[in-house]
Amino acid sequence: MKTIIEPFRIKSVEPIRMTTRAERQALLKSVDYNLFALKSQDVIIDLLTDSGTGAMSAEQWAAIMRGDESYAGSPSFARFEAAVRNLMPFDHIIPTHQGRAAEAILFSILGGTGKNFPSNTHFDTTRGNIEASGARAHDLVIAEGKDPANLHPFKGNMDLEKLESYLQEHGDSVPCVMLTITNNAGGGQPVSLENIRAVAKIAKAHGRPFIIDGCRFAENAYFIKMREEGQGDRAIEDIVRDCFADADGMTMSAKKDAFANIGGWLALNNPELAELARARLIQTEGFPTYGGLAGRDLEAIAQGLSEIVDEDYLRYRIRTNEYIIERLEALGIPVVKPAGGHAVFIDARAWLKNVAPLEYPGQAVAVALYEIGGIRSCEIGTVMFGRQPDGNEVPAAMDLVRLAIPRRTYTQSHADYIVECFGELAAHMDDLRGYRITKEPALMRHFTCHFEPL
Ligand SMILES: *Cc1c(COP(=O)(O)O)cnc(C)c1O
Repeated sequence: MKTIIEPFRIKSVEPIRMTTRAERQALLKSVDYNLFALKSQDVIIDLLTDSGTGAMSAEQWAAIMRGDESYAGSPSFARFEAAVRNLMPFDHIIPTHQGRAAEAILFSILGGTGKNFPSNTHFDTTRGNIEASGARAHDLVIAEGKDPANLHPFKGNMDLEKLESYLQEHGDSVPCVMLTITNNAGGGQPVSLENIRAVAKIAKAHGRPFIIDGCRFAENAYFIKMREEGQGDRAIEDIVRDCFADADGMTMSAKKDAFANIGGWLALNNPELAELARARLIQTEGFPTYGGLAGRDLEAIAQGLSEIVDEDYLRYRIRTNEYIIERLEALGIPVVKPAGGHAVFIDARAWLKNVAPLEYPGQAVAVALYEIGGIRSCEIGTVMFGRQPDGNEVPAAMDLVRLAIPRRTYTQSHADYIVECFGELAAHMDDLRGYRITKEPALMRHFTCHFEPL
């Protein structure tokens, strides 16, 4: 069959409140054109993030009722630990309330002034935690990973030559080598198994622990199955196990590829490191058998992990992005290719040639998309990255608009609606104007700044 259907039925629904274009125009004005300030009831399709926004299954809701809320030694922890270890065979599995809590614990131990952390691309909370410890974070993704139109199958790969010379240059100041799969900040692009193994080998040769940021491990494994030679006939679970087999630890946000609305973990093999991590965990998160989560959350994660590696789900998941991208391209809209695992990216700078980068083309597209169809997307460009620590403003490397796709939440008709809204936008391109920022905080301005149309 050519039609790839959603491999689930719907048992429980959340109504979407329809709004009119006039209402949305007024709402935009009321939030100073910052989409983060919208109430979610005023959004028809919310593509702000895929983090914690997925739909849980009937089995996950059932597991939630089994949650045992004992402070210590809960069977829910045992089920969580077994489910993680089934895929990622680490010795020590430490639950946290989110991925960034796992990072904060890890870098409170490994970080510090003078330390250096390489990765393909650090996610922003990872970078934040590294830098907050006084250490420095460096991104060593392959050159193809920075070119929106390049069709390389594994644009998240680490540049191995750069890693080798980085480790020679920085020597003992590198506490571990990191790798993000898929490469979230680089557009959800995958890392090949060959590259993962090569990074592990280089790290080992230099005596450095190798830690994977595994937030989208299942999407990454599906790309490996589809694109890497010799992997096509293998089970997703087996590919996942191979991805983590040579690693010394991982950080994870269960809000991504564990189908949960909250949660995360830090996993380690080194017992001394794990002991330090647990001591820190007790200070900041909670006792090691719940670590900032309720027993029911641990159950939802355990069950979610058994569902996320389902190939029918992953086929539908990845195909959704490709489906949207193919149709946007047919409308002449520049997109980042190939489709990533969790989101579709529009190249707004290439599309809106008459809006200069410092007039925020990504913001112009994101606001227009909301006005036309009530779709909430996210600017990833000059609004987010343009303000420099010295106060100057410069254009970001790219001006993208991200449509992050929540897991199991929307259907093909929602995808068709998104495409139709883009068609409407494309037909009225000449009306699009840029924006001016009228008010901004000192840091992370994109969350709260105010805009005014030019
Ligand atoms: C979301 C994410 C994190 C942080 O996880 P939270 O659960 O949001 O704290 C870290 N790394 C990557 C790659 C992510 O996508």
